[in-house]
Amino acid sequence: MKNEQFNDREISNEYFMVDIDDYPTEPWDKFKRVLKRTFRLELFVGLGVVMRELIWFKKHTISYPEEKMPIGPRYRAVHEMKRLWESDAERCIGCGLCEKICISNCIKMDTKIDKNSRKEVTDYTINLGRCIFCGYCAEVCPELAITHGGRYENASDQREHYVDFADMLTPLDVMKAGTQVEFEGFGAITPHEDERVVKTPLAY
Ligand code: SF4
Ligand code: SF4
Repeated sequence: MKNEQFNDREISNEYFMVDIDDYPTEPWDKFKRVLKRTFRLELFVGLGVVMRELIWFKKHTISYPEEKMPIGPRYRAVHEMKRLWESDAERCIGCGLCEKICISNCIKMDTKIDKNSRKEVTDYTINLGRCIFCGYCAEVCPELAITHGGRYENASDQREHYVDFADMLTPLDVMKAGTQVEFEGFGAITPHEDERVVKTPLAY
């Protein structure tokens, strides 16, 4: 319904009086009330809709998990860690901003200084049982390393269900095939940044 239609709709200024019967006390009256409430026209309207859909064989459902609906590219599912295109190295520099900003306090990470005096991530986990998929970690990441991917099937029988760095990181064979999905997922760069990222991977 459009706004104009909504404003122009015919609304009576009079009160609509509801017909309230006294609650029946006799068994026969109770039975009559059940019959009256059960066999109303609405029932046949509903049945009519079902019959119509049956005859037309219209499909309104999918056979999940065999079939899956596409999800939006900005959907916030389980996190992904990206690699640099040139070197296949991890983009994450261990700055710790995602851990700091996480309002659910579910990111835990540890770093050490490597032989080149750069920070190296030695441990990184996200407790998906606590994560509320707000996207703050992806938004704050200065290296565009962490994004939300499209993997939403993360049910677990454990309340504390962790995803670790290796599980989130783009696999090397995917990098070698050049199929790391760059422009999808909340927190990812936008397509027009492609050239900048490829040419100056550490400058974006
Ligand atoms: S999506 Fe939100 S709650 Fe989940 S790890 Fe990131 S910042 Fe924390
Ligand atoms: S994922 Fe991003 S924000 Fe988090 S530690 Fe790595 S570089 Fe920093």
